[in-house]
Amino acid sequence: MRQPNPMPPTDRRNIRRIDPQEVRGDRRAMATFTNKQQTLQQVLNVLRRRYEPDTLTQRPVLETLLYGILREGATAEQADRAFDNLQTRFFDWNEVRVSEAAEIEAALEDLPGAAEKAPRVIGILQAVFEREFCFSLEDIAKKGLRNAVKTLQDKFEDATDFAIAWTVQRALGGHALPLDAPSIRCLKRLAVLDDTDDDVESLRASIEHFIPKSKGPAFNEGLSRLAAEFCWAEEPSCGECPLRGDCPTGQNRKSEPRNTRLKPR
Ligand code: SF4
Repeated sequence: MRQPNPMPPTDRRNIRRIDPQEVRGDRRAMATFTNKQQTLQQVLNVLRRRYEPDTLTQRPVLETLLYGILREGATAEQADRAFDNLQTRFFDWNEVRVSEAAEIEAALEDLPGAAEKAPRVIGILQAVFEREFCFSLEDIAKKGLRNAVKTLQDKFEDATDFAIAWTVQRALGGHALPLDAPSIRCLKRLAVLDDTDDDVESLRASIEHFIPKSKGPAFNEGLSRLAAEFCWAEEPSCGECPLRGDCPTGQNRKSEPRNTRLKPR
């Protein structure tokens, strides 16, 4: 037997009529979403095929945060060398903490941004020493990911968005895609990041849900290698780039005569 409907029927008379323009806008937004998803999937496939590392170096939380500072805007090789220098040229992290920024900068050698990174390394070591009375951040990992991120954001003013996202991805078991300037340049040229947006946090948030957590490290390592090998700031080498088939910038550059090409961002 049919049960009486407990709710009166909704009065449809006051329902706003759907504007066909909005429907078209929604469809366009959906198309953009789908295109972005497809492009990122293709980018991920190419990067994994070409660059997926066999192993990822595991480091404790503090060391991962410090490495994240060094890795921003640098290749893995440059950051590895600089990190190794800090560990071998100084007795321990306390000696790094009490050293002059110029001494740390010298140890970082040819690392891009060494002058700006050296005081950040000291600042993080100083903050961890004042907070934990030792050189370890393992305790923050025990308080849950959300709390750990909040602590890093609130208490470590020298930790950049990139370094925190790097730590989330590599040491805290969370999902984040650390984006530095070369990666952002590359993703904007691929049209998967908004060209007019310069807020790193919002750029990161706009693609994190398209890349599965388990593929995050391969995505970041591959993007960094691709930016260093092909997607240079000036005159990117689109002809040789393995992503040229999926890249609107690469396609446009191919069709432009060399002397009329716009200067890359
Ligand atoms: S095709 Fe050119 S612009 Fe596009 S990702 Fe490759 S190097 Fe960069």
